[in-house]
Amino acid sequence: MYDPSLARGRMVDIQIAQRGIHDPLVLEAMRMVPREAFVEHDFEEFAYEDTPLPIGKGQTISQPYMVAYMIEAAEIDPGDRVLEVGTGSGYAAAVVSRIAGRVHTIERHAALAATARQRFERLGYDNIEVRAGDGTKGWRDAAPFDAILVAAAGPGAPLALQEQLDIGGRLVIPVGSEMDGQRLLRVTRTGATTYEEEDLGGVQFVPLIGEQGWAERSLPEDHRPAVVTPLARGRSLPEMIAATAESLPDFADPAFGHLFDRFGDRQVVLLGEASHGTSEFYRARAAITRRLVEKHGFSVVAVEADWPDAAAIDRYVRRRTGRAEAEPPFQRFPTWMWRNTDFEAFVSWMRDRNEGIADENRRIGFYGLDIYNMSGSIAAVLRYLDKVDPEAAAAARQRYGCLTPWQKEPSTYGRAVLSAGYRKCEQAVLEQCRDLLARQLDYARQDGTDFLDAAQNARLVAAAERYYRIMYYGGTESWNLRDRHMFETLEHLLEARGPGSKAVVWAHNSHIGDARFTEMGTIREELNIGQLCRERFGEQAALIGFGTDSGTVAAASDWDAPMQVMRVRPSHADSYERLCHDSGVSRFLLDMDRDAALRHRLLERRLERFIGVIYRPETELRSHYADASLPRQFDAFVWFDKTKAVTPLGPEHARTGVPETYPFGL
Ligand code: SAM
Repeated sequence: MYDPSLARGRMVDIQIAQRGIHDPLVLEAMRMVPREAFVEHDFEEFAYEDTPLPIGKGQTISQPYMVAYMIEAAEIDPGDRVLEVGTGSGYAAAVVSRIAGRVHTIERHAALAATARQRFERLGYDNIEVRAGDGTKGWRDAAPFDAILVAAAGPGAPLALQEQLDIGGRLVIPVGSEMDGQRLLRVTRTGATTYEEEDLGGVQFVPLIGEQGWAERSLPEDHRPAVVTPLARGRSLPEMIAATAESLPDFADPAFGHLFDRFGDRQVVLLGEASHGTSEFYRARAAITRRLVEKHGFSVVAVEADWPDAAAIDRYVRRRTGRAEAEPPFQRFPTWMWRNTDFEAFVSWMRDRNEGIADENRRIGFYGLDIYNMSGSIAAVLRYLDKVDPEAAAAARQRYGCLTPWQKEPSTYGRAVLSAGYRKCEQAVLEQCRDLLARQLDYARQDGTDFLDAAQNARLVAAAERYYRIMYYGGTESWNLRDRHMFETLEHLLEARGPGSKAVVWAHNSHIGDARFTEMGTIREELNIGQLCRERFGEQAALIGFGTDSGTVAAASDWDAPMQVMRVRPSHADSYERLCHDSGVSRFLLDMDRDAALRHRLLERRLERFIGVIYRPETELRSHYADASLPRQFDAFVWFDKTKAVTPLGPEHARTGVPETYPFGL
């Protein structure tokens, strides 16, 4: 049975609190007011959706988050006198009335004003007064107000409203037109004739029509929407995407990289992928990375690959000698993720690029952020200590010995420790990591680059021990541990590379797109590298997602099963991918900041497809789609409508002239 109070609690937690509204008075008021009482009967079951809804007369009840955001911005205190312009359904006024002392609200449509009045009476909200009329002139008899909220966008902040603010009072109002974008302003009256104005960001509202607003007749056709729900405006979403999308030229064309210059001043650029086996995603990321390295000084390339395996590639591209005794990298499932022709071409480019650069620290470094190759990391720590401190190597062998039975199948370690009472190796691996880091100065003097590698391997063993231990109980905690480890590795790399260093990160969309705006964050409480980067680097991080409609992909049907080239089903009708497909533009960059109106309309959550190393087309909807809000998840989205599977490296790709076909050891 549908329970509105449960839905309301969820709405407040997920749509309001998790998006950053913290004022306890606002959250409490949102929990009190039954939103279903403010929508028409047919829409009751949608009352707690994250969207505006139609309320008749071509008007809307605002999205719950926007109501909360505006009330928080107006800093309303208990006892305050508040004016609201644009009563609409009455919902926002009702929420305000649960905080303020008295609320006056004005609506230009008399029928809406009358319905709102009845709703307040029915609910017993007796501190609200409603009037039908032009709210741009304010409500002189009831002034001054501590706060004024305007729920429709005017050409500017009406003078009458500014004058009816008390000193210290706040006016929160959207200004601008739907065509050119609207901004939410907060105007604070600081003195008898002085005001301060703050821009609170891009928004989208219906127009404010009145003496100090827009003139009704002057509105252009698509500026007078019948209903401003996301689905029923003048231009369709695919049309808007087509108008905003920037077409991508060929990967080899310098104009391709050019389009990404806008992200060149960031410290970290994160490039996603919607599968682990699509050629276009690799080639696009390589082209973008080339540009960021060549023109914008990026020198760290950090990817969702295992550290010890990536270290072999790093030695190769930085022209350091290979290690004969180490096993060739990327031998374990899913091998095609890195042993493929597109990645090999990128490795060659990195090596060529480094050729002319004498200072090793200025060469591009290639690193793996991931946690899975625990045995490779153990071997690397021991190898390093054998070289620099044989006594410490003996102690390390002893400690890591605890993990020996699990090195081949670490995934069974957790079950053994937790259910069969085996000793946990936590203490031993942590001590080993601490010991190694404590001798940093001694060791690093001998070889700084090798020390970074050994220290990271020791950290990795400690994180992996915990990861495999908790993985048995599954879910969120092990996912979070892995993504935290990847993020901390990135931080260590930037630190090791010194001030001003800049990194490009390649990982799946599920790691890159801010988890707070996907089901991962809202339902499963998972975080990811993208979210952690935004929290740590703010505007200095750019999160770029990738997507496709259909084509082929390299994937397996089960873990450890052979790789197949599978057909990707055309995207689901309710997905972001379908909107991109319907735009008719075959490959494009969509910058989420380019068109405020489009961004606003894309905010409403939709399905998004996630294909990993496993693809199960037969259960695609259940296995591969999740809810997300694309413009919040990413700063930009790169689209290839039709895509092809990567080509795995085989013996036929062995190149002559490269010693022992290093680094891939084919
Ligand atoms: N706060 C409302 C709610 O919670 O349902 C949503 C309001 S809706 C987005 C904007 C409202 O502003 C519409 O009902 C529209 O008729 C009204 N409006 C536009 N111009 C107005 C004006 N000059 N005076 C009063 N109301 C106006």
